[in-house]
Amino acid sequence: MSRRERQAVRGIGYGGDYNPEQWPESTWAEDIRLMAEAGVNLVTVGVFSWSRLQPAPSDLTAGWLDRALGLLADAGIGVDLATGTASPPPWLVAAHPEILPVTADGRRLALGSRQHYCPSVPAFRAAAVDLASRMARRYAGHPAVTMWHVSNEYGCHVPACYCELSAEAFRDWLRARYGELGRLNEAWGGAVWSQDYTSWDQVQPPRTTPTFPNPAQHLDFARFSSDELLACYRAEREAIAVHSPGTPVTTNFLSLFRPLDQFRWAAELDVVAVDSYPDPADAEAHLLSAMTCDLTRSVGGGRPWVLMEQAPNAVNWRPVNVPKAPGQYRALSLQAVARGGDAILSFQWRAAATGAEKFHSGMLPHAGTDSRVWREVVRLGADLGLLAPVAGCEVPAEVALLLDWESWWALEADSHPRRLRLIELLREFYRPLFEAGVTVDFAHPEGDLSGYRLVLVPALYLVSDAGADNVRRFAATGGTVLISFFSGIVDTSERIRLGGYPAPWRDLLGLRVEEFAPLPDGAVVRLDSVLEAGEADGSGRVWQDVIDLRGADPLLRYAEGHLAGQPAATSHPYGGGEAFYLGTLPDRATLRALLARACHRAGVAFRTDLPPGVEMVRRGGCLFVISHLDRPVEFELGGKSLDLLTSDIVGPAVALGPRGILVLTARD
Ligand SMILES: [Zn+2]
Repeated sequence: MSRRERQAVRGIGYGGDYNPEQWPESTWAEDIRLMAEAGVNLVTVGVFSWSRLQPAPSDLTAGWLDRALGLLADAGIGVDLATGTASPPPWLVAAHPEILPVTADGRRLALGSRQHYCPSVPAFRAAAVDLASRMARRYAGHPAVTMWHVSNEYGCHVPACYCELSAEAFRDWLRARYGELGRLNEAWGGAVWSQDYTSWDQVQPPRTTPTFPNPAQHLDFARFSSDELLACYRAEREAIAVHSPGTPVTTNFLSLFRPLDQFRWAAELDVVAVDSYPDPADAEAHLLSAMTCDLTRSVGGGRPWVLMEQAPNAVNWRPVNVPKAPGQYRALSLQAVARGGDAILSFQWRAAATGAEKFHSGMLPHAGTDSRVWREVVRLGADLGLLAPVAGCEVPAEVALLLDWESWWALEADSHPRRLRLIELLREFYRPLFEAGVTVDFAHPEGDLSGYRLVLVPALYLVSDAGADNVRRFAATGGTVLISFFSGIVDTSERIRLGGYPAPWRDLLGLRVEEFAPLPDGAVVRLDSVLEAGEADGSGRVWQDVIDLRGADPLLRYAEGHLAGQPAATSHPYGGGEAFYLGTLPDRATLRALLARACHRAGVAFRTDLPPGVEMVRRGGCLFVISHLDRPVEFELGGKSLDLLTSDIVGPAVALGPRGILVLTARD
């Protein structure tokens, strides 16, 4: 986070989206007073305010915003000021109906909701840049403005557009990538299904087809669509920089969101920000939100980041919107701080009285201040005030999970041996590490892995030559790797790497996968373990590889079916390191045992004494201990420490109440 923002928001930022334009000005003084009561020091203003800011194609109608920002500045509350471009106003759509996006099956989406724009339409880009430019000119240097917030949740509802203007932009993107049509035909496998193109204008986005679209075309369109939205962001960012240089610029990612390549995007953001909405009805909501935190920190290269949106209580957009349990808002907020967040914001400050989000919770609920939610909001503000010492601190991680959006797009395309869902697989590998107090980074396959001891490679279906070399080099220099089934299968053009899977890592793993034998949904196959005593035999799910050992030692064998007796998991010494391979998805206990073994081999502490549901993560000089349980829990910590939240000395035995939290630091 920049020096300027640090000056404006000392310690941990706290607040939410503030939409004064949705309320009579008579309520604004109360807003400011209650923000002070809750410890709010940072609000996001104006995200969906285009029609109020610019009711006609002319200069801003911004008196209301001047007055609102003035009140916030007087109260010492920083503002993350939106450019307001996420939802084009009706007058702009009427003047340029081509702005409305088109789906893969040719339907043009209608006005009347939000984010109804095609990123490739020049009229939209020009209008958005014009508004961003006017906003930056007017509010550059404003004492309240600490950060610029471009658009909102890019790709949320319309991750790709299939209109004719998008088709033209896609062709331009392909020309830049391939130069000659012959190279495109080669990369896309044009000889299959008679798909060789003889003119660029024959090339289309992958619109709805009789059966599976060309997978390489599909992959390039995913790359293009992420880049096209990024170009919209970049254009607004550059317009802001003309008038407001030096003020950080951000936009808010959606968590674990497939359409945007967040590694590419984060490189263009001064501050990485994310919206996190785990489902309170999911018993592992805290696990998914921890993954979101770790991913957000990781795509930013370890920089402190902003939790831009979360719900103080329920959301409004699931079929059933379960409220957060008492203390859950606090626990998930402090989890975000523990995992590198320097600001904890919610959508939104005051729950709306009208519109499509009126049943989305707010920090100030419909019921007012005599409410559970408000009391929790005030308490969290006080807690965050005590955590100023951790702001800006790093979160050390010794384990990396490799993630590449290009591989994600390719993995989840059709016409594969089996449907796989990357988030579900990542969750399987992440869970035992989370439960063992092991902090995990996500890393790009071509990223710097030298700081890690253990690298996990779950279903990295597509890998570039550079990525494959990087993993091999990591192992050769003493690192431990664990690679799962369906990794290293294709190159960046979706072309099979031949000669037995996974071709780039056969030597590394000491094996060759001859063929795949995926399991139907719900099916399990018993496994015989050759792990050390005490590690029970388990079962495999989802997938079976037919493994031909070429130097690796078996760790698990299939115990039934036509692969009975053949290896299901292996290990192989390589260079100074060791390479593990998983040819199936083991049950949770077996996967935990394998990951414990890999951590042990890598010299990574893998705790087995944490009660399930208790999270432990270190940031800077603090150890965060967070219970996500709705009952009390007792366990041993070892040693005595100072709890920053209570100033109590605690340990070695600790007792936490439901969703109890400790932030421990050295006693002096
Ligand atoms: Zn379009």
